[in-house]
Amino acid sequence: MTLPTSTPIVQGTRTLFEPEHDDYRESFRRFLNAEVVPEYPKWHENHIVPRSLFTDCAEYGFLAMEVPEELGGSGVDDWRFNVVLAEESVWAGVSDAMAGPLLHSDVVLPYIMASATEEQRQRWLPGIASGEKILAVAMTEPGTGSDLAAIATRGKPDGDGGWIINGSKTFITNGINADLVVVAVRTNDDSHGGLSLFVVEDGMPGFEKGKQIEKLGQHASDTSELFFNDVHVPAENMLGEEGSGFLQLVSRLVPERLVLAVSSMAGCEAALAWTLDYVGERKAFGRPIGTFQHSRFTLAELRTEVEIGRCFIDRCIERHIAGTCTVQEAAMAKYWTTDLLGKVTDAGVQLHGGYGYTTEFPIGQAWVDARVGRIYAGTNEIMKELIGKTMGL
Ligand SMILES: Cc1cc2nc3c(=O)[nH]c(=O)nc-3n(C[C@H](O)[C@H](O)[C@H](O)COP(=O)(O)OP(=O)(O)OC[C@H]3O[C@@H](n4cnc5c(N)ncnc54)[C@H](O)[C@@H]3O)c2cc1C
Repeated sequence: MTLPTSTPIVQGTRTLFEPEHDDYRESFRRFLNAEVVPEYPKWHENHIVPRSLFTDCAEYGFLAMEVPEELGGSGVDDWRFNVVLAEESVWAGVSDAMAGPLLHSDVVLPYIMASATEEQRQRWLPGIASGEKILAVAMTEPGTGSDLAAIATRGKPDGDGGWIINGSKTFITNGINADLVVVAVRTNDDSHGGLSLFVVEDGMPGFEKGKQIEKLGQHASDTSELFFNDVHVPAENMLGEEGSGFLQLVSRLVPERLVLAVSSMAGCEAALAWTLDYVGERKAFGRPIGTFQHSRFTLAELRTEVEIGRCFIDRCIERHIAGTCTVQEAAMAKYWTTDLLGKVTDAGVQLHGGYGYTTEFPIGQAWVDARVGRIYAGTNEIMKELIGKTMGL
């Protein structure tokens, strides 16, 4: 397996970052090169990262920065640092290995920060900040993914304030490594108002982790099934009010979709840079293949789309930091960048010829790994439904 060596072309032209973000970027690059890149082939082979990746990230300030200092975090509320982590992981070719830590910090932690009681914050946040308590979120079930209202995992009152949970979840990122899983559960029959969130802890009797799912790509990321057989969850592990699950899920969608858009945009830039390097060196008919008009036009069109995408994504990042990025914009960003990533990596594979279809160059793996972006975090069809609805359609 070969990891990338070239640097994407757009860096340095952006106005989003301050010097402290550049320093942080440098130190995260050093961390990736020292701690992640050398181990990556093993993790890719094992289809999981070690739990120590989370504690190592925490030790160097690359995990759950949002957690307040008094609870063990850095208390940093500046999403640009999260952007740096997502981009550098992609550019180093290890984004699937870093998917777990990023999901922990960017997708699941915000649920806890927004809805946990003071007692829950004291109980959970120190372990989340240190990386000893790994997070996952479980919405998708074997019978439903896009349609959250069809969630069938059921919670019944135990008569003593707690709940008994039965059901199963699938495709859960960090599923095997997770210690704390935010689980969407039906607690009454009201369609959307009947969903509640619980934090189910590893080791609770009846909570079992199923087999790792064999995926086409994203091999270093752990994805599994979870089973709940009469799991007794105390009242103090409910997150937010009973029946508020759907609202909580929907209100966290902007950062979840934006971080995927950020990674996808970085993936487009990386794929373009790798391809540009290749077509400059590879010769056919006595000249570099990049000088054929077809190659030039293909790369010129992609470069244009990538530049346009970069402007939109950086604007979305700015608006998210200002608290003004809408669900509609995040949906646009998610669907458009994941589609573009498919297009850029596919063209990249083609321009690499046979080598594009090997593990000798990073473009092939990037093409395989890109495919899921159009499916998870809400499929791109669901994104378009959502955008359409906000247009009154
Ligand atoms: C690698 C990976 C990691 C994942 N991680 C997690 C995780 O950590 N936690 C979690 O909860 N889930 C996770 N998922 C699940 C993911 O979010 C779902 O797969 C996704 O939401 C789609 O649901 P589904 O697979 O049930 O497809 P379905 O909902 O069955 O959709 C199948 C097809 O029908 C289309 N469709 C459905 N409804 C409509 C509609 N109204 N209009 C038009 N088309 C429609 C979809 O767009 C899709 O093309 C992960 C999935 C993968 C592959």
